[in-house]
Amino acid sequence: MDIKDIQNKVVKVSDIYAKKCNINRDDDWYILKLQEEIGELTQIYLSESSRGRNVGVVPEQLKQEFANELSDVIGQVLLIANHHNIDIEEALERKWFRYLV
Ligand SMILES: [Mg+2]
Repeated sequence: MDIKDIQNKVVKVSDIYAKKCNINRDDDWYILKLQEEIGELTQIYLSESSRGRNVGVVPEQLKQEFANELSDVIGQVLLIANHHNIDIEEALERKWFRYLV
């Protein structure tokens, strides 16, 4: 599965989520939601590294929650790219992969 396939699936899920929860995804919703997801990722990171609350959650579960929140961040980044008609593969090639040549 390439990034575009993943992005299309993320957009479908977000459409379902927005309809089900009656969420108005206006222009700044995308970046604000990314901030929320980064906050959730940070919270789990602090718990996993024994610098945050850990209400009886075992380390394996924290690691899985960390992975889940990381996927939320990536999903939200792909939604932002889709909302702004940005080809994220092209951007990665231009910004990151130019160092590989
Ligand atoms: Mg989350």
